[in-house]
Amino acid sequence: ISKNKELLAQQEKRESNARSYPRRIPIAIDRAEGIYVYDVDGKRYYDCLAGAGTLALGHNHPVVIEAMEQVIKDKRPLHTLDLTTPVKEEFVSEVFSSLPEEFAKRAKIQFCGPTGGDAIEAAVKLVKTATGRRSILSFHGGYHGATHGTMSLSGMLGPKERVQGLVPDVHFLPYPYMYRCPFGIGGEEGHRISSRYIEHLLDDPESGVLPPAGMIFEAVQGEGGSIPAPVEWVREMRRITKERGIPLIIDEVQTGIGRTGKLFAFEHAGIIPDVIVLSKAIGGSLPLSVVIYDRELDRWSPGAHIGTFRGNQMAMAAGTATLRFIKANDLVSHVGQVGDTLIRSLRHLQEDTPEIGDVRGRGLMVGVEIVQPHQQQARNGSYPANPELASRIQRECFERGLILEVGGRHGSVVRFLPPLIITEEQMNEVIALFTEAVRAAVQ
Ligand code: PMP
Repeated sequence: ISKNKELLAQQEKRESNARSYPRRIPIAIDRAEGIYVYDVDGKRYYDCLAGAGTLALGHNHPVVIEAMEQVIKDKRPLHTLDLTTPVKEEFVSEVFSSLPEEFAKRAKIQFCGPTGGDAIEAAVKLVKTATGRRSILSFHGGYHGATHGTMSLSGMLGPKERVQGLVPDVHFLPYPYMYRCPFGIGGEEGHRISSRYIEHLLDDPESGVLPPAGMIFEAVQGEGGSIPAPVEWVREMRRITKERGIPLIIDEVQTGIGRTGKLFAFEHAGIIPDVIVLSKAIGGSLPLSVVIYDRELDRWSPGAHIGTFRGNQMAMAAGTATLRFIKANDLVSHVGQVGDTLIRSLRHLQEDTPEIGDVRGRGLMVGVEIVQPHQQQARNGSYPANPELASRIQRECFERGLILEVGGRHGSVVRFLPPLIITEEQMNEVIALFTEAVRAAVQ
């Protein structure tokens, strides 16, 4: 009997006290190394979910393990609230030397609780305090977390429908999702209209939009379906917010630390934001989050954002080691190259697979949108979403030893988030498995 099935069945029986999501990814993980995880029967899987983009260096990378062991060997405190330690000092200095110089010169860092959501909460409190305003501009399809406040900021309606009375004064604006352009026009004209519309909303006193405390977006939407915003659009958002004194918050929780082929996704557009939010990979596999912001916004009093677990030394040491490894090995260039290989191969597959409506991404944050090509095309050229087929593809991948996530606004985007250390050879194996899985699923 399969130990994997046995463990899953045990958990299923205990469903009432152990909520988990083994239904779509039915694996009991025994051990993990690099880009692989092994189930309790010893079967190997390519892990292209990688802790939802957390594991920049894959599972148990030697430099990460060594950094954690050093913390223990040196008898460093494991818990320090937010007090000063040498480990923290090294981490801060590594993070600051990774930022564009112009931003680093002006920036301050706030340590937050262990999750991305906690740091987003802090960022919003920061800009509200600094501006004395109460409304926030956010975007359709954006994802910023699952706490009460961050859910209020997220553009996906699905999970919000069951929670009444979320935080008010969040205005949702169209994100430049070019495949399903909300203005019915694709290409450059589509995102130009989107920025003109936003400018109009801010300048028209009759639009009902209050002067905002801040604007927040992901430069590449992750959970929303791996959607890169055109760099021109990101620059336009920077111009529009700067001209009106609106702090710009870039949520780099998923995109940050090399994922998109730059250390930070905003760098593709060559802009400097006012606030960035980091979590996931910044803790080198362990829970950690920070907000880095322009010191001009530092108008909140000490203690304005607190929380017990803001000093995870182990995570800081792992994060420092991760950043050092990425820089020493120029992993960001590598991410650009393997990411291009992936996108090129997927576009090739798209040529004879009409069910693939769109292939998009930046670096190793790539999505394949699955559609119903025999249904009527929308005015913007897109076909209706096909979440059932996307799930079938996910299942076919899983059976072949490839773990991928399905998400996006219509639940129809198969998402690739492999560790940044994936080699060209491993990438080609992943592409071969995915191609086989798609062919089997569309039959
Ligand atoms: N922002 C973005 C862009 C994310 O992708 C996520 C998590 N997927 C979050 C915020 C929330 O992070 P956490 O789940 O750690 O609260």
